[in-house]
Amino acid sequence: MRACIIDCTDDKFMTRGMTRRTSSSAYSTGMKCIEDDYLLKYGGNFIPKTSLDEIKRYDVAFLSLTSVQEVESFIKGVDKDDYRKNRCKIIAGGAGCINIYSIIDYIDIAVFGRCDNSQIIDILNGKYAENVWVKENDFECSGSYKVGEFKEPKKHFETGSIGCRRDCYYCQYTNVRTHDNKPYSPQKGAAETDIWASDFTTPRVYTTAIDGLTEKTRMMVNKPITDKYLVKKISSFYSEGNRNRTIGIKLYNIVGYPWETPETVENDFKTIVEMLSKIDRRTGKWRCNISFQNTPFSPEPLTPMQDCIVDVDMNFRKSLLYKYEGVDLRMRSTNFHQSGLTRAHRIAINRCEYKSRDDVRSFILDRKKIKDITHILTAQNPIKYLQHTKDHKNVDFSEYEKKRS
Ligand code: SF4
Repeated sequence: MRACIIDCTDDKFMTRGMTRRTSSSAYSTGMKCIEDDYLLKYGGNFIPKTSLDEIKRYDVAFLSLTSVQEVESFIKGVDKDDYRKNRCKIIAGGAGCINIYSIIDYIDIAVFGRCDNSQIIDILNGKYAENVWVKENDFECSGSYKVGEFKEPKKHFETGSIGCRRDCYYCQYTNVRTHDNKPYSPQKGAAETDIWASDFTTPRVYTTAIDGLTEKTRMMVNKPITDKYLVKKISSFYSEGNRNRTIGIKLYNIVGYPWETPETVENDFKTIVEMLSKIDRRTGKWRCNISFQNTPFSPEPLTPMQDCIVDVDMNFRKSLLYKYEGVDLRMRSTNFHQSGLTRAHRIAINRCEYKSRDDVRSFILDRKKIKDITHILTAQNPIKYLQHTKDHKNVDFSEYEKKRS
């Protein structure tokens, strides 16, 4: 059996006629598990990565989807790369393999959730578990499937954590995976975790998140960080370990919730920066640089906020310019907020139905405008084929949407 990998994370890879070896560290952890299982069974040193026009030379091609962006890259790759798969079976899987309707015409098998514990070998031998969709058995994906959970503790530890002990209403990560009450940690050694587990007492760059500019917003999305706690936590950089040293804190934040507008975001951003600026003792002996990494709210399938309406025309870029340049403390927003079009692409893929897949692909390929697919962007989550891993909370945000409109 000849296997290859389609990995849409690297744009250069999408060049036609390419086959190459890539270090395994470039793969997602899930793809590394699959490669290990495959090589153990079939031999060899690596599975080559190939461009889409080359997959026809293989029996099977693995497509790693860790996010909606990779679904988008795959759609663009199929469009530009003279997609000819002949008898090659394309198996898609990964954290971004949730709504497959926009790519259902190009794939043969989809694995929802984890595919470790040698499950890939069973799939290659025609044995399909409850988390596997197979086109020849269910052409339009109208059946019922589960999201696979991790089974191998060894691989679990290699990844730092699977799932998260918190339960933020917008977060798919926690809503489709079981977890073991560990603080969120994306990989071994990374200084990234939820704010409750963060410790800013030694000099390094930390990554954590608040995901709401106001205490009220954070409570509404079930991320209960009070202003008082946030001030106390950030103040902890004044530790002896940091004296005459610099620490950096990347503070991820979400803007564009249904109850927010560019005006409220501008005001709330200024307010939180001013609140935190009061921590500054102005000694010159400590230095803390906080960068707010603002990302747009997106209603993700399988989360309590999945049906929220998002106004993709709102532009928050100018709302996040306020900054503080103090003595011990500096704060600024370092990245550009995604454009409305980028958000619309994401929502269109997440809300794609079987019957609307041509429209969604045309939109991704810039052959349709936002106004042509408004009915898709404002639809409810269409995924009926995946069973929720957790009890879905009944959280109603519609009152805020009405107010906004
Ligand atoms: S947003 Fe972060 S803290 Fe909240 S559930 Fe998701 S991973 Fe956990």
